Amino acid sequence: MAGSPEIELEHLSREQAAAELARLAAEIAEHDRLYYAEDAPRISDAEYDALRRRNAAIEARFPDLIRPDSPSLRIGAAPAAAFAKVRHIRPMLSLDNAFDDEDVREFERRIRRFLNIPGDDIAYVAEPKIDGLSINLRYEHGRFAQGATRGDGSEGEDVTANLRTLRDLPLVLDGPAPALMEVRGEVYMLRQDFLALNESRRRAGEPEFANPRNSAAGSLRQLDPRITASRPLRLFAYALGEVSETVAGTHWEFLDRLRGWGFKVNPLARLCHGVDEALAFHHHIAAERAHLPYDIDGVVYKVDRFDWQERLGFVSRAPRWATAHKFPAEQAQTVLRRIEIQVGRTGALTPVAILEPITVGGVVVSRATLHNEDEIRRKDVRPGDTVIVQRAGDVIPQIVGVVPGKRPTGAEPFTFPTICPECGAHAERPEGEAVRRCTGGLTCPAQAVERLRHFASRNAFDIEGLGEENVEFLWREGFVRGPADIFRLAEIDRARLQRLENYKGWGRRKIDNLLHAIDSRRTIPLDRFVFALGIRQIGEATAKLLARHYGSLGALRTAMTEARDRDGEAWRHLLSIQGIGESMAKDLVDFFAEDHNVAAIDDLLAAGLTVEDHVRAAGPASSPVAGKTVVFTGTLQAMSRPEAKARAEALGAKVAGSVSRNTDYVVVGADAGSKAAKARELGVTVLDEDAWLELIRG
Ligand code: AMP
Ligand code: ZN
Repeated sequence: MAGSPEIELEHLSREQAAAELARLAAEIAEHDRLYYAEDAPRISDAEYDALRRRNAAIEARFPDLIRPDSPSLRIGAAPAAAFAKVRHIRPMLSLDNAFDDEDVREFERRIRRFLNIPGDDIAYVAEPKIDGLSINLRYEHGRFAQGATRGDGSEGEDVTANLRTLRDLPLVLDGPAPALMEVRGEVYMLRQDFLALNESRRRAGEPEFANPRNSAAGSLRQLDPRITASRPLRLFAYALGEVSETVAGTHWEFLDRLRGWGFKVNPLARLCHGVDEALAFHHHIAAERAHLPYDIDGVVYKVDRFDWQERLGFVSRAPRWATAHKFPAEQAQTVLRRIEIQVGRTGALTPVAILEPITVGGVVVSRATLHNEDEIRRKDVRPGDTVIVQRAGDVIPQIVGVVPGKRPTGAEPFTFPTICPECGAHAERPEGEAVRRCTGGLTCPAQAVERLRHFASRNAFDIEGLGEENVEFLWREGFVRGPADIFRLAEIDRARLQRLENYKGWGRRKIDNLLHAIDSRRTIPLDRFVFALGIRQIGEATAKLLARHYGSLGALRTAMTEARDRDGEAWRHLLSIQGIGESMAKDLVDFFAEDHNVAAIDDLLAAGLTVEDHVRAAGPASSPVAGKTVVFTGTLQAMSRPEAKARAEALGAKVAGSVSRNTDYVVVGADAGSKAAKARELGVTVLDEDAWLELIRG
């Protein structure tokens, strides 16, 4: 495309400048699309660069005319101090997994039962599952307005400025678009770009990324968008978030609309009629996998009809209408050099296999987990052995076993240490447990540092700049001994803190950024706080459960103290929470019974930390059946039993199997039996199906 005759810059009027900027924005966007979406550029790189230079020159002269969709915004604005948080209007969920054909057939059977459709084929869209990171893109009146990472699913990070630098991302949608629309997709990196990036990092003496997925994530989460702009990130769009009007009736149709708006949609996606076609597609992709230019770890099947997706809804963290059919793990053989012992934050001694580096499924692996003492003995793994290493998706590589016949003569079995390699304290292994633990407590540097690192990590306090190395430094120098010290760092004498400057490039700027990042985390939701405490067995999901159940830190503490009485109400209540078993409950109560843990929490509060009470979602709490106990009996007409149960639960009701005095409603379908009679006997409200539907709609 030949550019229009150029007017010399100094002769350009405002009107002409505005008109030319508009033309350049459209033209450059079109070339981006041709280049990236169609792999069919129509101009040379030099001509393309000339267009961008012209655009930049005009903008430099008329800065107030810079357009929101200007191509220059794609190479970055000024660096931000830290990412703002974004609460997702609709949660960004994960996917259930299927590992073999039978799992997929069961997935389909569940859908049939739920929707009560015995006969016909269900249509699915099958798409490769890209191994990148998912993002939510918000468009307002067809313009890109905000982009966020998935984060923990309910809250992500605002990476708008960085996403603007992605050429696969349309800043303005082609053709009519809803007033509000969220498009979801995957940011990823081509394997070849990942290797080139690592190569240049190696040359620059910078740490390398472990795999394309990490390098994509690392590149997107840069505080300086100019760095993101320099990284070859790509984007496939594949899902709809919140939307102000109907844009399609099926997923397949939606993918088509995405293409029309200017998104890149995976060209391998296919509409499959019935589960057999979907499985055939999976086998086809599995065979193609090695030839694809990017990493995938499975195929996602999605029920095509949006109205069915809607009815199917969600179970805890994943939709019922989709599943990820994973590929079998990839394996390779290599030599085990030695076994190292790592000490975790709970003092657990974990054996790690140090390997001759080997490529497994496109990723270089040099370490793998050996889990524990018994595992080493059971598999009879000895230093010097040739071992089979396995990598499946995101998980840490594992040692599957030893290659028989390749053992060098004289290879000795590994003796597991009974002394902590970090602090020299005795390491004990209680009867019946698989794990050996250091008894050094917080005087063991490994435990102290690991706990602090966990405290500051992504899904806990999420303090940028407090990774492993820095935590270790701050701990060793005595700046930070307990979590509360993190929040007192700003009070430390600047001169002392400046000592950091001599350490690994910690300049004044980096210190400022760290203090700023810490400052932005002085308020934290209860669930994250509980997770950050690093209580044994209490992961994110359990922390959320506890937050939902107890509501506030005060209530949780009181309950945990009362629960020390194993005959009391508080202990029984704790055990009644679905998802909390006896051993977890014990770890929880023990944690709050230890003085130094209580002191650490008090100290945090004294340092000015605010722990936010858990806020209940508005939906269920305000519904007419929230908190009520419902029993369904007989055959329902409008929906299957599982669907009825799911709907009730989504509205905050508890669905029970049998009628008791605690039951609020019994919903009777056709041919109801003894339950209806029992309800009448106990004086429980009995509703027919219509009355029930009316109740939940009202
Ligand atoms: P997981 O986190 O493993 O449970 O799987 C859910 C994630 O799969 C999503 O958050 C996306 O990041 C990713 N994903 C990759 N490709 C697709 C796709 N075509 N459709 C949906 N999710 C995908
Ligand atoms: Zn120790």
